[in-house]
Amino acid sequence: MGYRSDLEARLAKKTTKAIVDYQMIQDGDRIMVGLSGGKDSWALLQVLDVLRQRAPVTFSLVAVNVDSGYKEYKHGLIAQTCKARGWDYRIEHTGIGEAIEDILDEGATPCSLCARLRRGVLYRIAKETGATKIALGHHADDFIETLLLNLFFAGSLKAMPAKLVSDDGEHVVIRPLVYVGEDEARAYTKECELPIIGCCCPACGDLSLQRQRTKRLLMELEREHPGVKQSMLKALSNVAPRHLLDTRLNPPGELRATVRLTAFAEATAVKKADTSESHSIDSVASGLSRTR
Ligand code: SF4
Repeated sequence: MGYRSDLEARLAKKTTKAIVDYQMIQDGDRIMVGLSGGKDSWALLQVLDVLRQRAPVTFSLVAVNVDSGYKEYKHGLIAQTCKARGWDYRIEHTGIGEAIEDILDEGATPCSLCARLRRGVLYRIAKETGATKIALGHHADDFIETLLLNLFFAGSLKAMPAKLVSDDGEHVVIRPLVYVGEDEARAYTKECELPIIGCCCPACGDLSLQRQRTKRLLMELEREHPGVKQSMLKALSNVAPRHLLDTRLNPPGELRATVRLTAFAEATAVKKADTSESHSIDSVASGLSRTR
């Protein structure tokens, strides 16, 4: 069975590489795909469905949409699309939108709270649907944007994991699009004629949000220096912990102890070498004098 296009072949290849690199899917898995109706989650669901039909292992998919409760949100279109394509799905209606308004401090960014609340709902539904893994549609751009956001605004050097076990150890979250660019996900969703549905949240598309600013920065950088984003993504799997300042990675006491031991070992080795060298020089010298 061939791929529908070069784009699909590329996405399938990158997604397969991520699945293999991070051991994301095993035989018998039931993968619950978090489906917001945005371009990324549609691309994920579609490419996983393509891979499912070709994979050497057997796994099933169920798409789960968490409706935050915004009035204009077109959850009906999500249901209709899944049904038309034969995808198993579930729509979960919640009051997350209202809850965010109630809980959030004035001026605070809603996205991390929103993500946490939605994650909680997904964990619950994973149990109810018998899902063994939860797949999220974060792509390569999300990984490097998160890296920069943490670097610029949170004083932390971290991105997000491609595979994660929840704090209570009950759920495994996977991000199979880690190697797929945002442009590719957008183009693929369009090519597959999947309807991109806005979340209808008031914060959505707000260019003052730090993430949007970081996105623009990366776009400008990539325009000036093509390959910058790829290099950043590569850097996430090519960490040099000894060149960082975190004392949890490089405890200064242990470093000193190691250095002293090494220096001692080297000094001893040099001394031994010196001694044996001088012995051999001595014996050569005495041999010479005997010869004379
Ligand atoms: S933009 Fe709105 S829906 Fe999207 S993560 Fe932020 S708060 Fe949630």
